[in-house]
Amino acid sequence: MTDTIFTKIIRREIPANIVYEDDLCLAFTDINPQAPTHILVIPKQSIPKLEEAKDDDQNLLGHLLMAAKKVAKEVGLTNGYRVVINNGEDGGQTVYHLHLHILGGRYLGWPPG
Ligand code: 5GP
Repeated sequence: MTDTIFTKIIRREIPANIVYEDDLCLAFTDINPQAPTHILVIPKQSIPKLEEAKDDDQNLLGHLLMAAKKVAKEVGLTNGYRVVINNGEDGGQTVYHLHLHILGGRYLGWPPG
């Protein structure tokens, strides 16, 4: 597994406000929130970015989306929210461990910057 800040969070080597965990993924609040609620959902297995996901990862990717739905409900995002995956440089990805952003708690404009 390639080490990133997120693998350190998975191994509890650095602290995070973990809001959800199951056998395949972990969710925790973003350290630099872009909305009143900003949570990251990450697989425990490291996939650096979406474009590197393999056919075998299909179930895991579906699992992450279902986990995002569950987390959004648990934290009370009843008026909608956005789920975002930044991929690569032009996508604005800064941490190369695949993650879903859950953003909510305010109206989110479109298109994003
Ligand atoms: P990306 O830009 O790769 O899509 O998103 C990476 C996210 O990780 C950013 O929103 C950033 O604020 C968040 N982040 C970076 N380092 C840490 C950290 O140590 N702890 C937490 N909780 N979030 C982090």
